[in-house]
Amino acid sequence: MSSWVEEKCAERGLRMTEQRRVIARVLSDAKDHPDAEELYRRAAEVDPKISLATVYRTVRLFTDSGIIETHDFRDGRARYETADDDHHDHLIDVVTGDVIEFVDEEIEKLQERIARKLGYELVDHRLELYGRKIK
Ligand SMILES: [Zn+2]
Repeated sequence: MSSWVEEKCAERGLRMTEQRRVIARVLSDAKDHPDAEELYRRAAEVDPKISLATVYRTVRLFTDSGIIETHDFRDGRARYETADDDHHDHLIDVVTGDVIEFVDEEIEKLQERIARKLGYELVDHRLELYGRKIK
């Protein structure tokens, strides 16, 4: 059975090597927001011949094809996640680095209202909150 990322690659006609498939599966299975080194660790568990350079090239290809999204959570490392329709925003714990996903209907509507007020139709947005946990 092919993973979500593999299906998107097929739709876009990307040539798939076995190593690309492994990386595609790792990305599809990720429930978090791994960086390239973490993806490399997970992919290398499946195929030890995969190199970090291959991981970088592959995530670049998938990003350029709009299959995965890159995030910058201000820790100097690009993080990756699948660009599926499951829209959400992120809250980053500035102490632990934990990334919490959330959806808030009020924020969604507010952003559309702001865009409209400025004379725009909203096509996309990104929202990152940075916080410290209240004890
Ligand atoms: Zn996310």
